[in-house]
Amino acid sequence: MARIAFIGLGHMGGGMAPNLARAGHDVRAFDLVPEAIEKAVQGGCSSATSAAETVTDADVVITMLPAAKHVRAVFENDVAPNAKAGALLIDCSTIDVTSAREIGAGLDELGFEFVDAPVSGGIAAAAGGSLTFMVGGSDEAFERSKPFLEPMAKAVIHAGHLGAGQAAKICNNMILGATMAVTCEAFVLAKKLGLDPQVFFEISSKASGQSWSMTSYAPLPGVGPETPADRDYEGGFAAALMLKDLKLAEEAAKSVGAYTPMGGEAEELYQRFVDRGGGDKDFSGIIKMIDDSWKVPQE
Ligand code: NAD
Repeated sequence: MARIAFIGLGHMGGGMAPNLARAGHDVRAFDLVPEAIEKAVQGGCSSATSAAETVTDADVVITMLPAAKHVRAVFENDVAPNAKAGALLIDCSTIDVTSAREIGAGLDELGFEFVDAPVSGGIAAAAGGSLTFMVGGSDEAFERSKPFLEPMAKAVIHAGHLGAGQAAKICNNMILGATMAVTCEAFVLAKKLGLDPQVFFEISSKASGQSWSMTSYAPLPGVGPETPADRDYEGGFAAALMLKDLKLAEEAAKSVGAYTPMGGEAEELYQRFVDRGGGDKDFSGIIKMIDDSWKVPQE
């Protein structure tokens, strides 16, 4: 049993921290939102009054924060000055590759082992302990972090050196954003061509148009397995976070001169959806905008 500091108890971290407590670890949890700490306590964690207090005496520090600026601030201001020598530091947030590398290198200079370990899987997988972790860091740091990630995971995969976890995550989510957008377009087109959406789902989910966006996350209510579409696109993976990941992918592509036109198109579509107020909706809710914009040329 290890003493684990868990910082960031939002949609994702709020589900993840209790899974570590259930696995028998002593988890001290902190968030800026008191209600989030209260929920973690109900889930078997203990509470702290600051991030600095959370990390004192911790063997392992895990963060699940919104974006790079939060991760940088927490590691620089709270973790590095207060964590005990030799503590293992794990960031599970989705941030840009460069920031992950810089934060890790800075912590390495201070003698800490750090891995970037972003996740795939939404809020349900966070609560159910079935996330996929993509881990960037040395072989030793990966082996050391694995037992602490496993209680929250269905898979823990070593992506490569520092920053490789973030690289895998944004490449994966670029596929996800583009396939969801085109799956929505296909459903709208199929409907307009007179196809029954359920019949189209049954065909395409068994044909070469099959993808996770089609088979496991069909963007229409009543079609396929239960998805956020059945809850008017509430919950799930917010479109604003998808846009964030597509921007990270574009930034990363520019930094290495990679040509990613489909990723760019998906980013533009999600930007428009967020600008029209869809940021809090599940990312599959973009089908509503695609359906609407379809009508524009006919008006
Ligand atoms: P969220 O906004 O719900 O949670 C983030 C939490 O961090 C909030 O509760 C906030 O109060 C807390 N926080 C911010 N600054 C803090 C600080 N200085 N100290 C302590 N707590 C602080 O976000 P989320 O949906 O849980 O996502 C977290 C990360 O996981 C993001 O990087 C996101 O891109 C990634 N992610 C999200 C999903 C998803 O489905 N929501 C899926 C995969 C990855």
